[in-house]
Amino acid sequence: MRKKLIAGNWKMNLTIPQSVNLSEQIKNGIKDIKLNNIEVLVCPTYVSLYPVNEVIKDSGIKSGGQNMYFENEGAYTGEISAEMLKSAGCEFVILGHSERRKIFNESDELINKKVIKAVDSGLTSILCVGETLEERESGKQNEIVKTQIEKGLSGITVDKLKNIVIAYEPVWAIGTGKNATPDEANDMHKFIRNIIADLYDKKSSDEIKILYGGSLNDKNCKDLLSQSDIDGGLIGGASLKSESFLKIIETSNNL
Ligand code: PEP
Repeated sequence: MRKKLIAGNWKMNLTIPQSVNLSEQIKNGIKDIKLNNIEVLVCPTYVSLYPVNEVIKDSGIKSGGQNMYFENEGAYTGEISAEMLKSAGCEFVILGHSERRKIFNESDELINKKVIKAVDSGLTSILCVGETLEERESGKQNEIVKTQIEKGLSGITVDKLKNIVIAYEPVWAIGTGKNATPDEANDMHKFIRNIIADLYDKKSSDEIKILYGGSLNDKNCKDLLSQSDIDGGLIGGASLKSESFLKIIETSNNL
């Protein structure tokens, strides 16, 4: 059985004291919830990673970066490496988020280099894929997602897949308050699982975790997270308040 993953993407929000405060609230809230088959992850900004990790160590909550570069070190001003994320306490890294693809022009080829580096370094890579509204309206969503997965996972061998999580995040649902319906999301998750079966094998497609992201909140999480092929959520806005994030964790834990 796939363990559910509830991941908070804090994006470029919260100062260090605010991040520490939020992580303390999540840590304290989680003590009252007996976590069953579920993992909890927070992805603060780079500067908050170390202080947040100091708070959450031994709590069972994990942390991840929101991005990284594929080189080890050197003259790459403004970038951060896999080893640096690990040294701050991270086990995960989000790669290919639609905001990185759109605002920072990240290509599938660049994202693939990062995915390979992350996995080779022992980080679990959350590879984000998803279509824009225009692409969905012209019926191209499957084609787009398939290309993003094939290119994003190029060179990743079957033994490395255990360090890959896929996040399906329709771009039109991110930060808009308009989530995909449970059926729309589950259909895409099944489609993604079939792509993995074609690229690798049935066992890998059964085992890989596929998260849904896009306006997931404490109100709609039950319907979305109870779908057969949705293994958790990548959550932006609703992860910035402990009440809503804890509610999503609790709901998912009780499914
Ligand atoms: C995200 O940033 O990955 C995301 C899904 O954001 P939101 O939950 O705010 O739509």
